[in-house]
Amino acid sequence: MSETATTSGPLIHPGEWHIHYDYAVGDTAARFFTELRDNMKVYARRCPSCGRAFVPPRAYCERCFVKTTDWVEVGPEGVVEAFTIVYEPFDGLPVPPYAVAYVTLDGASTALANFVTGVDLSDPEVASEALALGSRVAVAFAGKREGMITDFHFELLGHNK
Ligand SMILES: [Zn+2]
Repeated sequence: MSETATTSGPLIHPGEWHIHYDYAVGDTAARFFTELRDNMKVYARRCPSCGRAFVPPRAYCERCFVKTTDWVEVGPEGVVEAFTIVYEPFDGLPVPPYAVAYVTLDGASTALANFVTGVDLSDPEVASEALALGSRVAVAFAGKREGMITDFHFELLGHNK
């Protein structure tokens, strides 16, 4: 019905949204973040049916459709499942280069993403070999913690094979 529509393609307008909002994280995530902040521990939530330990913790098991019941401390070490090294700047993220990895902490059934330190990122090929899948990392907590995922990061362990 628009008189200005054309058949040469969609009409595109530039747009940009910057939205700040606060939200309640819920009971399960609140316990997880509080343990990070106050006790420097990483906790998973275990499914009573299949036994999987979810981290970040989940209130329900996505396979069994039952409520998870037990809190299980996981880590402090784990294994790299996937990683990326960032060499380009992005708004709201650290000055590159930096590395991010999905790590399955010891005792956990799922992987958790966070920054990785202890890797020389100056040469992408060498850094990729250091962060190879299966590499071992350890959780390292920040001195000042705020109940956020950035209260810790992963540190590459030197004795990877
Ligand atoms: Zn389950």
